[in-house]
Amino acid sequence: MAALSDRMRALVQPRLADFEPYDPAFTPTRINLSANENTYPMPAAVRAELDRALAATPLNRYPDPMSGELRAAIAERHGVEPRQVCVGNGGDELLFNFLFAFGGAGRTLLNLPPAFSEYELFAQMTETAVVNVWRDPATFEIPEDEALAAAAEADLVIVTSPNNPTGNLIAPEFAERLCAACRGLVMVDEAYIEFARPGASVQPLLERCPNLVILHTLSKAFGEAGIRCGYVLATADVIDVFAAVRQIYSVNVLTQAAGLVAIRERAAFAPVVEKIRAERARMLAGLEGLTAGAIGAVVWPSEGNFLLVRLPGAAEIRRRLRDDYDILVRDFSAAPGLAGCLRITVGTPEENDAVLRALTDLVKGETR
Ligand SMILES: *Cc1c(COP(=O)(O)O)cnc(C)c1O
Repeated sequence: MAALSDRMRALVQPRLADFEPYDPAFTPTRINLSANENTYPMPAAVRAELDRALAATPLNRYPDPMSGELRAAIAERHGVEPRQVCVGNGGDELLFNFLFAFGGAGRTLLNLPPAFSEYELFAQMTETAVVNVWRDPATFEIPEDEALAAAAEADLVIVTSPNNPTGNLIAPEFAERLCAACRGLVMVDEAYIEFARPGASVQPLLERCPNLVILHTLSKAFGEAGIRCGYVLATADVIDVFAAVRQIYSVNVLTQAAGLVAIRERAAFAPVVEKIRAERARMLAGLEGLTAGAIGAVVWPSEGNFLLVRLPGAAEIRRRLRDDYDILVRDFSAAPGLAGCLRITVGTPEENDAVLRALTDLVKGETR
């Protein structure tokens, strides 16, 4: 997207002069596997319940600022107190508020890239300095000793598990050591945790790590990216800070109603998540078959609802997938540490078949 106008560059706070309007690189396509959304239809009974809940929600009153009912249901889901939950307008709002409240000028965030690009963006917006400890370029595993040493010098840590876009998990023991090493707060972003193997969540650490913050979202496993609902779990005094800095009415009444249905009816999503995990294994095998024949091509295993694949000519393959096959995937080939990489969301069996067929055509074309 275009840079800001000279007039605006002169008017905005100087540190924002190089910011640009966000470009989601979105083009309408038949098959969109670019944003890690859940592309399965919502279970019909849940959708019916949700429609009833929305229809019964008055719109003339301001929302409950702290989303009381939803907060209680979330607390019940995770076995914590409602005071340990803060709901936000998507996980994004909470990420921003985390850096806004606990970062700022003179503070340092430890980031473990390649990771979610918003961490650095929000750090810049809030004048928080960023220290990057890069993941291993071949496996995307975190160099743990180096990260722990950096955590001891940092005011904040954000670690993503499963990591977007690489799919790696951290061991809960490592999260615990990060919490012990860092004098400030450690956020573990579990946006994709429902897709990971059982026991992967750092949730059991909440009781003994008072500086742990866990981020969740309803945008991925629960198929509600459009309603914008995420939440953090932490000790009650940390939650008080989130409650103090938030836009009072950021979580609107429809979002609260839709979020409540998703949390209450969560068991109905388990078969969808199971199906996505099975499709992920099938896609991994399919992509492995494809990359085995192509020099410089790699596919990484993933604990999320997406796969990262390195392909020669990735940017061109992504363009042709879009223009010739009407399939959108995410191009990371120009991102630091991700040369030649595309991220493909695991979709429905039909969508995944279409991706594998198209990629087989294109990769054969590239290596011919
Ligand atoms: C999708 C995502 C989120 C949260 O997304 P929202 O839609 O704002 O709830 C947070 N972290 C990561 C790594 C994500 O991929």
